This record gives sequence, structure tokens and C-alpha cells, in this order.
Amino acid sequence: MKSLNLHAHLKEHFGFEKFRPNQEEIINAILSQNDVLAIMPTGGGKSICFQLPALILPGITIVISPLIALMKDQVDSLKANGIAACYINSTQTNDEQQQHIEGLTNNSVKIVYVAPESLSYLENAFNSIQISLIAIDEAHCISSWGHDFRPAYTNLGYLKNRFPSTPILALTATADKATRTDIAEQLNLQNPNVFVASFDRKNLSLEVRPAIDRVKKIVEFIENKPNEAGIIYCLSRKTTEELSQKLQEKGINAKAYHAGLNPAVRAKTQDEFINDDCLVICATIAFGMGIDKSNVRWVIHYNLPKNIEGYYQEIGRAGRDGLPSETILFESYADVIQLQKFASEGLNAELQLAKLERMKQYADAQSCRRKILLSYFGELVTENCGNCDICKNPPTFFDGTIVAQKALSAVTRLQQKETLPVIVDFLRGSKNATIYNNQYQELKTYGIGADISWFDWSQYIIQLINLGYLEIAFHQNNRLLLTPLAKKVLFENEKVQLSKVIKKEIEKVVPTEK
Ligand code: ADP
Ligand code: ZN
Repeated sequence: MKSLNLHAHLKEHFGFEKFRPNQEEIINAILSQNDVLAIMPTGGGKSICFQLPALILPGITIVISPLIALMKDQVDSLKANGIAACYINSTQTNDEQQQHIEGLTNNSVKIVYVAPESLSYLENAFNSIQISLIAIDEAHCISSWGHDFRPAYTNLGYLKNRFPSTPILALTATADKATRTDIAEQLNLQNPNVFVASFDRKNLSLEVRPAIDRVKKIVEFIENKPNEAGIIYCLSRKTTEELSQKLQEKGINAKAYHAGLNPAVRAKTQDEFINDDCLVICATIAFGMGIDKSNVRWVIHYNLPKNIEGYYQEIGRAGRDGLPSETILFESYADVIQLQKFASEGLNAELQLAKLERMKQYADAQSCRRKILLSYFGELVTENCGNCDICKNPPTFFDGTIVAQKALSAVTRLQQKETLPVIVDFLRGSKNATIYNNQYQELKTYGIGADISWFDWSQYIIQLINLGYLEIAFHQNNRLLLTPLAKKVLFENEKVQLSKVIKKEIEKVVPTEK
């Protein structure tokens, strides 16, 4: 075989001077007929990994992708680079599909994109075409352990049996270690070469804020950067619409985007965003999959994401050009409750709840957030990042044993029946209706915490929740319960480290807003 100059191909067909990390290694592994599992962050440059080999290999490259909406764009841009490509999916008429399949059989195409649902249309053609490479994009969709399981992907395992000598390239941006193993097994990859590009995106700042007054904070944030494009991710379609409305009332040209809007409106909004005609999109997670806009300067999560994979993928849409970009996550207990409900009613409840718990721990973290994120993806770093809110504003700890003992004994005195605000009122000796109606003023320890402000108490109690001494009974009016750990503090004099309260804002602990 004549020696291939991959760089020359990269330059000639794609106009790039050099490979991004792992691209060249992945391409070489494919050209040596290996199965490959490639994990690269969003924007890492996955497409080149199959597009370039497709040009070199003698037969056809099949690209399986769930993103039907993007196939046309991808194929158009390949054609613009002089690469013969087509796609087959359910948006086409039978005639169109037939026409494309003929294109495959008479060898006039190098790359065909196909939705997993439409793969069966190719069954007849399979007998008369040479398939040199099968690329499976968004490969985590095959795993019910991942965060975006799609039933149509489950059948793809048959491809290895059907084409035993054709290399398979599985690509994903979002696999934790368990999901990676599952992908390789489900696709029957044979001794795959596994490439994991670093997930570190140093140019993204990380910040978590309590969700109180979210809208006001967002308006201020955007007003400070009037010419920058950003995305605000929301949990529900309704929130995207309400939020964009509120921002518009403040003179911000924001638009909603979700899968329930009519396709023409969606396409228009997407175009306006890409062309910088509309700078702010309030979107559900339906927005952004594959949108190639390099200058997104910020990403805000209005609601807590379901899991770290989704969160990381979404913030990854900022700063693809490598320039500094900001990300803010608003954390609210109301969201946690909502998400716990969704997770416990859905597929793989236990696993999804565990992933949600990791997400919550991230948001509550008191140490470098990037370290936590990267360790989630299996990358161990020793240095703090310097570009997250914790690194920039490290908490100072103090011996909070007495504070903790007071709070936990208040919970005990109130028979674990009360919510956080009532417990704080009790500690501070407040004279209000709830206290008097229940004659709490008669109880021992009433008012033992009058020296600490209401706000600080609420923050300490939230820390005690995060540290596992207290838990919120989400299904019982959010009253606070003692955990077994609390006994150690109350009766065994276990020491508790609390961090000094710095942020002068408080999160509502009662789930009132959505
Ligand atoms: P992913 O699918 O991993 O999110 P893409 O394949 O869409 O990423 O690539 C992201 C962007 O990076 C695209 O604009 C692409 O043209 C660009 N890109 C890919 N490889 C290179 C490279 N070697 N040099 C410069 N730009 C690249
Ligand atoms: Zn950090």
C-alpha cells in the first residue's frame, strides 16, 4: 500500500493545518482495520475521524447518526468540500431514498449518513456494495446506562456479525467508564482501540449559584455583555417560553427553542442564532446537538441538569473557538425534587437517581469543580483549576461542631417534624405564629442560636444537609430528618467542619417555584 500522507489530505479536503488531539491516531487505527472507540468532547473534531478515512478507503463509509435534522447540513458541507456524500432518512420520499441507494450501488458516493431506523432500507444494497468503514456517531445512545438511550440503537450490534471484517468506529462525547464498556460490548467491537481525548476545557469558567432571583441575575449578566451569544438551558418547554418572554420584557432579544415548536420556527431561530441575529436562546436540551457555532460565549443552566454527562455536553457548547467563555449553573432544591421524581418514574430509576445525586454533589461542592468534573470522566488531575468559583473564592472552614450540635438538637426537639425555616426561627427564638401555635417557645433549646443571623443559620443547615447529617423528606413536606451520622455529632462528639458563609444570598428550600 502506498504510504498515505494524512496531513496532505487534511489540508486538501478540509483546509486544516494540523490534527487535533487523537484524530490522527484514530484515523491510523481505522486504516489498520481496527475497531475503535473514540471518546472526544463536543467540538473535539469527531467528524474528521471518519470523513478522512472515507476518502482514502476503497469502498463506502456508512455513518449512523440519530441527528436526522443535521444530516442535510453535514452532507452539504461535505459536498462543498468536493466529497461525494448522501444521506438516507425518514424525511425523504421513497423515490429519493431509492435514488440515493442507487448512487451507492454504482459507486458514485463515498459517505452515506443513515438514521438507525432507516438502516434496513440499505439491506438489499448491502449485497452489492463494498463497505469499508462503519462509523456510529453518538454511540452512547446504544447504552441504557448512558443519558440518551435510543431504542433504535439497540439493533446496531448485528452490524459486526453482518460485516465481520469491516472496522467499526464508535464515537461519543459523553461516556463515563461504565457506559464506555457497555458501548463496546453492545456493538460487539473486537479488541477495540480506545481513545479518550482530554475533557478539560480550560477556557470555560465554572460557576454555581443559588437559584434565588435567577431571572434578575440573568438579566444583569446579559446586560453586561450585550454583544455576546449565549444559551440558557431550561428543564421544560414552558420555562423556555416564559423565560424568553421575561427577558424580552427587559429589552433582551431572546428566543425560545424546544422540540414542540414547529420545525420552520425552530430552523429560523437556529439560523438567527448561528448568524448572530438573535444572541440569546432559551432552550431545552433539544438545542445544540451538533450546532456548529464556535463563538458561543456563555452557557447558563437555569435548572439543574439531570446528570454530569448532559451538563458537560451542554456547557461544552460554549467557547469552541478556545476563547474564554463563562458558564453558570443555578442550583435549586425545587429542581432536585422535580428531577428526583422524573428519575424515579423513568427507565433505570436507580441508576438515574445515582447520576442525579452526583450532579447535586457537584453543585454543592466545596472543592475545585473542574477536578470533580474531570474525575467523573476518569481523568485525575492534581492541580486546582483556578477558573471555577471555588478556586476563585475558596471557602474558609471553621470548627462548626457546636453550631452543628445546636442545629441537630433543634431538629430533635421539634421531633423531626419541621422544615428548615421553622428550625431557624426556633433556634433564633423568633416570636411568630408557627412557634406560638405549637408552643415551641416552651421547649428547651428555644433561642439557643440567637447570636447567629437567620441567613447564616439557613446556610449552615444546608451545609449539614450536604454533609449528610440531615436529610430533606421530599415526600413529607420537606421536613428535616436526622440521619444516622447526626447521632455521632450529638452523642459521640464528632467534629464538624463548616465553611464560613460568604454569599449573601439565600436559596428557598421549599419547592415553590418551577
Ligand atoms: P464534534 O463532532 O466532535 O463535536 P466536529 O467534528 O463537528 O466536532 O468539529 C468541531 C469543529 O472543529 C468543526 O468546526 C470542525 O470543522 C473543526 N475541526 C475539526 N478538526 C479540526 C482540525 N484538525 N483543525 C481545525 N479545526 C478542526
Ligand atoms: Zn477550580
